[in-house]
Amino acid sequence: MQIFKNCSIKKYNTFGIDVKASVLVEYDHDDEIIDFLKSNQDKILKLLVVGGGSNLLFQNDFDGLIIHPVGQRMEVIKEDENFIFIKASAGYVWDKFVEDTLNSKAYGLENLSLIPGTVGASVVQNIGAYGVEAKDFVDEVECLDLNSYEIKTIKKFDCKFAYRNSIFKNQLKDKVLVLNVIYKLFKQPKLNCEYTDIQKYFNGKTDVSAKDVREAVINIRNFKLPDPEQIGNAGSFFKNPIINQEKFDILIKKYEDLRFYNLPNGNYKLAAAWMIDKLGFKGFKHKGAAVHKNQALVIINETGEATGSDICELAEIIKEKVFQNFYVLLEPEVIYV
Ligand SMILES: Cc1cc2nc3c(=O)[nH]c(=O)nc-3n(C[C@H](O)[C@H](O)[C@H](O)COP(=O)(O)OP(=O)(O)OC[C@H]3O[C@@H](n4cnc5c(N)ncnc54)[C@H](O)[C@@H]3O)c2cc1C
Repeated sequence: MQIFKNCSIKKYNTFGIDVKASVLVEYDHDDEIIDFLKSNQDKILKLLVVGGGSNLLFQNDFDGLIIHPVGQRMEVIKEDENFIFIKASAGYVWDKFVEDTLNSKAYGLENLSLIPGTVGASVVQNIGAYGVEAKDFVDEVECLDLNSYEIKTIKKFDCKFAYRNSIFKNQLKDKVLVLNVIYKLFKQPKLNCEYTDIQKYFNGKTDVSAKDVREAVINIRNFKLPDPEQIGNAGSFFKNPIINQEKFDILIKKYEDLRFYNLPNGNYKLAAAWMIDKLGFKGFKHKGAAVHKNQALVIINETGEATGSDICELAEIIKEKVFQNFYVLLEPEVIYV
């Protein structure tokens, strides 16, 4: 375990915001962090878990303790006729985990390839892409209760998963540290190639493997999304807003080319990127921040020196314009700290 005091967290967040944390603890094994927290419980007033920092926007120095899991462990804990249950540590790099599951002949996560971040955060965020969400494959989550220091197991159905949401972002926010996640994966591939981009990529080819799907997703993502290693960003900045029939009827009359998805409950999910693009924001700059020139939903740290406030202000400008034009309130997917 490593303890850093008054340290810059620029390399711990993919926006590359240069603020400081009072204390940052990097741990490998669960026992290390449990012992550390128990013996420092009187001193810890404020605490934040940071995985890959790929969905966080720091606005100020963090006056508290940052816990950063780095353990890279996975093991098969049980199998039955159809499924293989794999337990992975919170710090495991998500994309490495996806690759390793496929190499272990455990299928299902291939559509979630190349999403930045860690296994721990995958359940907090209920990550999703190309028609698949983490919740489709989570079996249970092992957490440390940050009050009692007991280890608790939360079954999938108690995780209250929803679109980019879970119990860990609500009732259990700041109350638990996810230690390990148990994923229940298929022994035989059941590919999900329905998403238009994937269909286009395969161009009618049907004889494809899970590894082919992973490769397709990686290529599509590399083409579409800016690499945080090269330009600071946190992926999609806003969630796709959900509206009811009444609002939809008004908008579709005004915008024939409105981009939306029908939801099973009769509501509509609007493509936030389409609205932002429609307002001409691609490439728009504000102080050190900008809207990506090809991806309207991605805000970047253009100069490499942007502050959290620069990014926040740009997000507000976009929100206001979208509201004025579409009467829709955009909600950030990125978490403000
Ligand atoms: C280029 C790019 C593309 C992206 N594409 C997608 C995409 O396609 N789909 C998608 O869903 N997301 C996407 N994201 C967003 C991001 O990758 C995910 O939200 C990811 O799960 C964040 O993981 P992380 O480890 O970086 O979490 P962080 O950003 O470090 O943390 C996110 C939240 O989880 C909490 N947390 C993290 N680890 C733990 C833990 N062990 N215990 C308790 N709480 C914890 C944090 O406190 C915070 O609240 C993208 C981001 C980027 C930069």
